[in-house]
Amino acid sequence: MLSLEGKTKRAIVVGIPGVGKTTVITRSVEALSNIGYDAKLVVFGTVMFEEAVKKGVKHRDEMRKLPIEEQRRLQEQAAAKIASMQDDIVLIDTHLFISTKQGYYPGLPLYLLNLLKPTNLILVAAEPHEVLNRRLNDKSRQRDLIDEKEIAHELEIARIMVAACSILTGAPFAIVMNRDGNVDNAVNELINLLSNSERGYR
Ligand code: ATP
Ligand code: MG
Repeated sequence: MLSLEGKTKRAIVVGIPGVGKTTVITRSVEALSNIGYDAKLVVFGTVMFEEAVKKGVKHRDEMRKLPIEEQRRLQEQAAAKIASMQDDIVLIDTHLFISTKQGYYPGLPLYLLNLLKPTNLILVAAEPHEVLNRRLNDKSRQRDLIDEKEIAHELEIARIMVAACSILTGAPFAIVMNRDGNVDNAVNELINLLSNSERGYR
């Protein structure tokens, strides 16, 4: 495998629902593997569920019904497990926030960031109408449908949240545009962000 001086790069890849995180990450892992990196896709919620299964939880939806302290413990166990992965590049697919009646809850509060120790933060973004169409066309998922204006607002909140994560962790953040029919561009950008060169200034 290519040398990364023994250091694992852990990139947390975030973005609002339907923006294309899973698509971009999956393709990036393939592309990175093709050029010789040992790259891994990790879906935070899936790792959390694996931890929950060990405690007798049978369905993914049951996790949300657990007492809040138990959910937090599962999140922490998942974060610690991800941080211990030794691949060259670990791409973590997760959500930045959830919208509730009380306001926006962070998907990556400080206690999780401290455990995850990301080396990079990447926000996947797109134009509001593109996100809306993706949500409408993606029959494989049940998504809350909202209008373009609300999606524009979510995209704005996502930028604020990722900047806050960067300040808290010291990890650089970048915004990768995933334009319609142009996943390749987003993949190339993401790969460049994670390529071997140390801290090059632009
Ligand atoms: P979630 O947060 O709900 O898991 P996500 O951010 O992972 O969503 P994806 O599931 O990757 O989003 O993509 C949502 C839909 O948009 C899928 O149907 C996918 O094929 C489509 N899509 C992703 N990127 C593009 C693109 N650049 N052009 C056109 N369609 C795209
Ligand atoms: Mg996804």
